[in-house]
Amino acid sequence: MFRATVLTLYPEMFPGTLGLSLAGRALETDTWALEAVQIRDFATDRHRTVDDTPAGGGAGMVMRADVLARAIDHASPVSDPRPRLLMSPRGKPLTQEKVRDLAAGPGAVILCGRFEGVDQRLIEARGLEEVSVGDFILSGGEPAALVLLDAVVRLLPGVMGNEASGDEESFENGLLEHPHYTRPQEWEGRAIPDVLVSGNHKKIAAWRRAEAEKLTAERRPDLLARPDKPAT
Ligand code: SAH
Repeated sequence: MFRATVLTLYPEMFPGTLGLSLAGRALETDTWALEAVQIRDFATDRHRTVDDTPAGGGAGMVMRADVLARAIDHASPVSDPRPRLLMSPRGKPLTQEKVRDLAAGPGAVILCGRFEGVDQRLIEARGLEEVSVGDFILSGGEPAALVLLDAVVRLLPGVMGNEASGDEESFENGLLEHPHYTRPQEWEGRAIPDVLVSGNHKKIAAWRRAEAEKLTAERRPDLLARPDKPAT
């Protein structure tokens, strides 16, 4: 079973959106497991302090290596085979390929940063892999962890109603997906493209492919230029 452990100062944010819909049903049926660990429980002083001022000065606070290490070592002993991730805007941008890798594995231990981030020594000493959900700054790692887990959980066997729909999504073949239509056949004077109601499956596939290529070239030429683009 895919087991996620999230280390956070806000365990109340979990399961959050992951408690509803597909992911929520899968959680109820033990298709995957989620544990949210309160980092503050691993502070040792009277005030349960988890952060301190940045060495070298400057604004904000930094999460302490010693407190975080105790939380990680408790949640994920050395023998734990799960990857240890740190949600971080400096991380490698999350891709569908990475999501697939994670979904095929035993789970993940996910550290959510707050304030200015975490002490660099903790990242190095506990071998944390930094993962970003995009080039923007969130106020904390929790929404990023929810995003990552949502993407992973929908790929777990038995979670998606229609198993086939997983393979044709945007990014799975290095392209953005073609446009979708459904009834009514005509709406506000706009008709569904003829080819889609032709019943000719070969033509439909060719049209979808051409639309996907056109859309990708317009919106995300970087995907076409990617050297590791899967062969199509
Ligand atoms: N000072 C940091 C930003 C800290 S934001 C910097 O400039 O790089 C606080 C926390 O939110 C981070 O530690 C991280 O855990 C989370 N976070 C913010 N943006 C994120 C993003 N794009 N992807 C993943 N996590 C993010």
